Amino acid sequence: MPWVDELSEPQQLRHCIRDLVALSTLPALWKDYDSRQIADSAAAALLSMLDADVIYVSAPGLRNQPAADVIRTRGAVTAESSGRVERILRSAWRGKREQISVIDNPLGTGTLRIAAAPMGFGGDDIIVAGSPDPQFPSETHRLLLGITANHATLAIQRWLAEAEQRRLVSVIERSSEFVGFAHLDGTPQYINKAAFELLGLSEFQELQTASIFDFLAPDEQTRARTELLPMVMRTGRWLGELNFRHFKTGEVIPFLLDWFRIDDPRTGRPTNMAAVSRDLRPQKKLEDDLRRLNESLEQRVAERTSELAEALERLTIEAEERARSDVRAQNLQAELHHAARLSTAGQMAGALAHELNQPLTAITNSVNAGRRMMANDGPLRVDTLREILDEAGQQALRAGEIIRRLREFVTRGETDMRIENLPDLIGEASELASAGTGLHDVEVRLSFDPRAATVFASRIQLQQVILNLIRNAHEAMTQSEWRQLAVTTARLDDESIQIVVADRGSGLPDSIVEHLFEPFHTTKIDGMGLGLSICRSIVEAHRGKLDYEPNDGGGAIFRVTLPVPLQH
Ligand code: ADP
Repeated sequence: MPWVDELSEPQQLRHCIRDLVALSTLPALWKDYDSRQIADSAAAALLSMLDADVIYVSAPGLRNQPAADVIRTRGAVTAESSGRVERILRSAWRGKREQISVIDNPLGTGTLRIAAAPMGFGGDDIIVAGSPDPQFPSETHRLLLGITANHATLAIQRWLAEAEQRRLVSVIERSSEFVGFAHLDGTPQYINKAAFELLGLSEFQELQTASIFDFLAPDEQTRARTELLPMVMRTGRWLGELNFRHFKTGEVIPFLLDWFRIDDPRTGRPTNMAAVSRDLRPQKKLEDDLRRLNESLEQRVAERTSELAEALERLTIEAEERARSDVRAQNLQAELHHAARLSTAGQMAGALAHELNQPLTAITNSVNAGRRMMANDGPLRVDTLREILDEAGQQALRAGEIIRRLREFVTRGETDMRIENLPDLIGEASELASAGTGLHDVEVRLSFDPRAATVFASRIQLQQVILNLIRNAHEAMTQSEWRQLAVTTARLDDESIQIVVADRGSGLPDSIVEHLFEPFHTTKIDGMGLGLSICRSIVEAHRGKLDYEPNDGGGAIFRVTLPVPLQH
């Protein structure tokens, strides 16, 4: 023991013993101190015991807090120079540990001898002492410095551990989950506030007389005792659902329980057990609500789906029904169309005699004329006979054509519509009309507008119309003084042309005008009153119209208005 050899003087020995005793009381003094207070108190004790000029202590602070650095000097120093001295001492000592340093005295003149003792935290924490005394540090000084550093380290370590513990306790206390510790025999040691409330315990007393198995629902206790606890002891942990019970109401509370063993880190032997558990009621309620919601949703979806399916079925049936009625409507339309044609055809059949009468009369006349010629004893004029026969043949062909067209119109075949030269068409019709009636004393004036040169029409049908109009005009003029007939064409506008048949005949009595275009209205003894109604049907089939107006100064005017053919 080198330091003992040094203490030859009884005086020094007494001092030393006194200092050691004083140091041994420090831990008791530091019981409620924090790191800074411990460092400061250690610095104060050492300043006096070592008869030093300066003591600097650097101790650790709490987590996330700065180090508790403290400096104590014999004489008064300003805060500024205290900081400077602290830095000098720190750098003089950095890395040297046990050695002694000699530096320029930052507090006065001459040199300062420095000794240090590290604190046991494994970092830069240290106690540094400085003195101008050339004997400094003696073995005794270094001994006192070392003991103080050890005591301070232990005290600060305890303070840090207690702070950590306080933090943990406050976390556990504030936790909303059940947290508890128990002895290995099942006697509860501690449960947090949440646990007290969840189980309806009011007194700590109640807790001490209970067993952890009393916390459980009666039908869970046996399983916990015979299965779960042995598993915790054997494997270290059990995690699962377990029903607890409320001490006051007896309500069964489902918990998710994490039950584990606590072992002594040094021996590895179990010392306690602990449980952290969560009340599953809110979660179960949520699950229940969700399940109910799901069920009602599923039901609603099912209802809606079947509603939709029904609606779809209804729609399909309706669509089929509509398709069927569409077909029916189409058939009906076709039938109507056909019926309309047939009725027109009926009218036409009536008129057929009327129309055919003309070529047939012409044929009969021709044949009679031929026969008369052959019966005469005079010389047979072959040329004249050929003309007569040609005329008869042409009229027979025309009669056949009239019948063919009528058949075509009655059956559903398309009418033979094409672009026709209007003056030609009218000229031909006019000739036919004259040929049929034999009224050669009628003055016929044809006048054609070159801007109405063509028409899109069935030649035969339109000729029939003109023929009819001319023939009616002829007939109306039998008694007239001036037998004038004008057939003219005109371009009305961009879209229509007109054929006008005007005569100087008897004109039309009002009684006839009203029903002029209706069938079977006639003033003639042998008339059928069909011609004009057929004419109007034909003109309308050509997307045109047929109108009547009285001729100023006597007579009738019939106007056939037709669309201009597309390429014009
Ligand atoms: P129908 O010639 O067989 O009588 P229409 O329908 O052709 O049949 O004519 C109906 C009636 O209209 C005729 O009976 C006649 O009285 C009158 N009518 C037709 N055209 C003229 C006309 N240009 N002038 C005077 N009366 C006419």
